[in-house]
Amino acid sequence: MDTTFIVKIGEISLKKGNRGYFEKKLKDNILRLLPSKSSRFYGRRGRFFLDTTEPEQAELALAHTSGVVGYTRVFSTEKEIEAIREKAHELAEIMLKKKGLRFKVEARRSDKSFPLTSYGLAAELGHSILEKFKESKVDVKNPEWVLFVEIRDKAYLYADVQPGLGGLPVGSAGKGMLMLSGGIDSPVAAFYMAQRGLRQEAVYFHTYPYTSEEALQKVKDLAEIVSTFTGGMVLWVVPFTEAQLKLNRLVKSDEVTLIMRAAMMRVTDMLARNSHAKCIITGESLSQVASQTVESLRFTDSISDLPVFRPLIGLGKESIIQTARKMGSYEISILPYDDCCTIFSPKHPLTKPKFGYIREVWEGLDLDEELKKAADNSERFYFNKILNG
Ligand code: ATP
Ligand code: MG
Repeated sequence: MDTTFIVKIGEISLKKGNRGYFEKKLKDNILRLLPSKSSRFYGRRGRFFLDTTEPEQAELALAHTSGVVGYTRVFSTEKEIEAIREKAHELAEIMLKKKGLRFKVEARRSDKSFPLTSYGLAAELGHSILEKFKESKVDVKNPEWVLFVEIRDKAYLYADVQPGLGGLPVGSAGKGMLMLSGGIDSPVAAFYMAQRGLRQEAVYFHTYPYTSEEALQKVKDLAEIVSTFTGGMVLWVVPFTEAQLKLNRLVKSDEVTLIMRAAMMRVTDMLARNSHAKCIITGESLSQVASQTVESLRFTDSISDLPVFRPLIGLGKESIIQTARKMGSYEISILPYDDCCTIFSPKHPLTKPKFGYIREVWEGLDLDEELKKAADNSERFYFNKILNG
């Protein structure tokens, strides 16, 4: 038999003009994470339901779909007070253990032929729970859990509403190109942008053998985790060794880091255009390192005329780490494989480049052909952890 979930959506319902479009995106995103034909998503009187033959997979999909504010399994029974009471007791027993003793009942009678009014049904079930579970208490102002009952074609009951990610459906804001390194920050940046509705592809600059196979594997593992929040994800691995060595030869040591960041930005711009991505996302945070000062960011910004989004720009490391833990990326990010930035880092990188001067250095290098070759030779991988287990 099918399991039904009730799905609560938040911000989407505020977007009046585009509401239909957002709801369609949300529906597609949820169903894309489920085996075909196992599930049906539909709205009825402003509420959304998912019927599925794969409840575990569906729960995973709902927990990872942005735009979903909350979800829970719904239990149905005949529209008959004894049957409803029995279900209510079953749910109450679970919730009293899980959430606490203070509860309330909210009932809604859409079928007016049902003999009890909404208020009457809520009162009846409340009393009945109090009587059966002596330690429980009704608290209408500040309950620890709520039993919802609705009388429609059948009686529907639910209580254990799980919080979803909230935000907007992935894809509703178009697509961006994420610069994904093996660090803590960039997966978190991806997570925040996904919440704002951005689908993403990712690019990683691989400087083999200066960065190891393990470092690449780490980035793939991170891409896999990010893919659970972005509804799958393409990762481009750019062979960056030649460009990097050339830069190291040609550029003054204190300018190398900045010029290398610019080179990455340039290749990311090329790949973004190729994939029809309309913005670039990085995990940069103001003043975290030399390449993330206001002056340095002005320069790297100038390399691409796509908007560059840095959702972590005003966040401290502690709060970034907190999100990384929540996403499940933190444990992978802290594995100790060097990335190319640390290996080729000078001791005293320039932190406040003069804009005109550093632009001149960049333009004098004339790297476009080299960088285009790197972009053309990049290797494509695809991740979709939720579907592939
Ligand atoms: P993270 O910022 O992800 O923790 P990090 O701190 O090692 O990694 P930084 O040197 O701070 O990386 O780089 C800032 C941003 O530049 C990263 O968040 C990422 O968006 C991008 N970046 C750095 N190195 C790479 C790389 N090898 N490939 C792709 N993007 C990179
Ligand atoms: Mg960083």
